[in-house]
Amino acid sequence: MPQTWMITGANRGIGLALTMELVRRGDHVVAAARDPWGGALAELAAERVGGITPLELDVTSDESVAAASAALAGKPIDVLLNNAGVYGPRDRQSAFEMDFDAWREVFEVNVYAPLRVAQAFLPNVEAGAGRKIATISSRMGSIGSNPAGNIAYRSSKAAVNMTMVAFGDAVKDRNVSVLLFHPGWVRTDMGGGGADIAPSESAAGLIATIDGSGMAQTQSFRTWQGETIPW
Ligand code: NDP
Repeated sequence: MPQTWMITGANRGIGLALTMELVRRGDHVVAAARDPWGGALAELAAERVGGITPLELDVTSDESVAAASAALAGKPIDVLLNNAGVYGPRDRQSAFEMDFDAWREVFEVNVYAPLRVAQAFLPNVEAGAGRKIATISSRMGSIGSNPAGNIAYRSSKAAVNMTMVAFGDAVKDRNVSVLLFHPGWVRTDMGGGGADIAPSESAAGLIATIDGSGMAQTQSFRTWQGETIPW
């Protein structure tokens, strides 16, 4: 049975790879991006007419999220996937030198936005059969793994873990599962060319793991292959 997914940051990197994998297998993707009309996403949408609904969405903007939510009013979403993310400056997020404005921006995208998007599209998720909200976090947000360096990015992913676990608690009795994932170290603009895996590999693993998840996995933090990560 084909499902409807909504993916933020669907125009490049892991979000685009997820969109490609999903439409290839016959699912429908609401592909949300700041500019969904240009680049590879637009080409894919032109090839797969009907498989992709491009949706303009800046996840940091209340107005943009409200407009996108109005455009989708009443439409069921089986899986809502918060994927959009930023890393912040590579050189100024250390214990001794921090770009505080950039840190705030990282929190806007990586922490506040997933909750804003989850709140706005919860009625769509409740109208769907899948009833899943997944967020791409990072192993770098695991305090139990390797809490060294890259403070802006790491703290944002630790914070989104807590935020979405608390959200998951609040929507448990509505039968909506809330899932957190590390996508692997992936060759994207963020992960860099030397990363371990291709976006398609990460996307295929994430999709399989999300397919196999439900209320039994709600509020979990796992890898793209389903292994539990320490908080
Ligand atoms: P990319 O840098 O390749 O892509 C980031 C995506 O986020 C782009 O689509 C970008 O859109 C979007 N985005 C950023 N800001 C906004 C915004 N305000 N509104 C809407 N979209 C926005 O990153 P990846 O694909 O590598 O990362 C995807 C997710 O995976 C992120 O959450 C990241 O933290 C996480 N992750 C990635 C890892 C990796 O190795 N690559 C490892 C661990 C986690 P635009 O083109 O408009 O800028």
